[in-house]
Amino acid sequence: MKKILVTGGAGFLGSHLCGRLLDAGHDVLCIDNFFTGSKTNIEHLFNHPRFEMMRHDVTFPLYVEVDEIYNLACPASPIHYQFDPVQTTKTSVHGAINLLGLAKRVKAKILQASTSEIYGDPEVHPQTENYWGRVNPIGFRSCYDEGKRCAETLFFDYRRQHNLRIKVARIFNTYGPRMHPNDGRVISNFIVQALQGRDITIYGDGQQTRSFCYVDDLIEAMLRIMNTPDDFTGPINIGNAREFTILELAELILALTGSRSKLIFRPLPTDDPRQRQPDISLAKQLLNWSPTVELRQGLEKTIRYFDQQLKLIAPAGLAG
Ligand code: NAD
Ligand code: UDP
Ligand code: UDP
Repeated sequence: MKKILVTGGAGFLGSHLCGRLLDAGHDVLCIDNFFTGSKTNIEHLFNHPRFEMMRHDVTFPLYVEVDEIYNLACPASPIHYQFDPVQTTKTSVHGAINLLGLAKRVKAKILQASTSEIYGDPEVHPQTENYWGRVNPIGFRSCYDEGKRCAETLFFDYRRQHNLRIKVARIFNTYGPRMHPNDGRVISNFIVQALQGRDITIYGDGQQTRSFCYVDDLIEAMLRIMNTPDDFTGPINIGNAREFTILELAELILALTGSRSKLIFRPLPTDDPRQRQPDISLAKQLLNWSPTVELRQGLEKTIRYFDQQLKLIAPAGLAG
């Protein structure tokens, strides 16, 4: 049994990760400032004897004793990370410094939840780990993209300077139950709109692409990355390599929900990447991992989740 710290543990991915780590017999300390996460995401864990929760902002130092750290703290959806962009950069950069400082003091292994956004609007397709990316340093997405890039730099410098055991996972678009219904990400938006019979908002012409990974597959990969030998640092891409246009996604969600919502077209946000697909050869080879959940299957589970949520929450609370 290990003592494991999960930052951002009350968020979408973090809450699933905490659950999996408890199932594997570990002691889990979840910290979160509840900016985008919620107690509801982890309330089923509150009575677990090996689960502990602490309200804490990673931009402040943290003194605890742990064996492993998964650093997930950071808002992930464009509307949330652009709400207070300075805080977003601080969360990635100051957060990484504090957690790396902690890992150094207690000699813990530390994994960074990095992102495909570090590739920006890519000219290399699919994206391989050795591609350096094409990121606008001064745009609306920069607080997130550059914050995450700087965090990667810090991880590798702590490795070189202090010989820390680091792992950098570059996560591509992931979806599933416990996504925030109002966070503006495409899958949550389309499902909620379809279930409520509201118009489906396609940004741009819908020909931009993304590749969507179901949460259970993603968490499995994160656990495997943490358990790689100490000389393996990554960066390593994790995600599902099946690429879809946003229009195809909308049509699939309409078919699966049986909704009669109409598709409407809205302006494409600035710096919105035109295409994104991970090259996951490294993960297949080194982790013996590949995604197992097809988009249709994952969407069905996610639709069931949102359907239940919408019945619990007054529709007016979700509109927008
Ligand atoms: P999320 O917003 O649900 O989770 C992030 C969590 O971090 C929330 O619980 C939030 O309250 C917490 N948080 C934010 N700022 C904090 C701070 N300063 N101190 C403490 N806690 C803080 O998003 P998610 O989808 O679960 O993403 C988790 C991580 O994975 C993020 O680091 C994100 O960048 C990364 N990621 C996610 C995706 C995806 O598709 N879901 C893709 C790439 C990378
Ligand atoms: N830190 C922390 N918890 C610890 C150890 C360090 O939060 O258990 C923070 C500390 O506040 C410091 C940062 O991590 O600002 C970086 O620590 P490091 O030891 O690398 O640098 P230094 O303390 O020399 O600035
Ligand atoms: N998108 C859309 N309609 C929406 C929300 C998003 O067409 O209601 C598009 C968005 O412009 C982007 C893609 O879907 O091209 C994925 O957006 P998301 O915010 O989920 O993730 P990211 O852009 O960070 O990959």
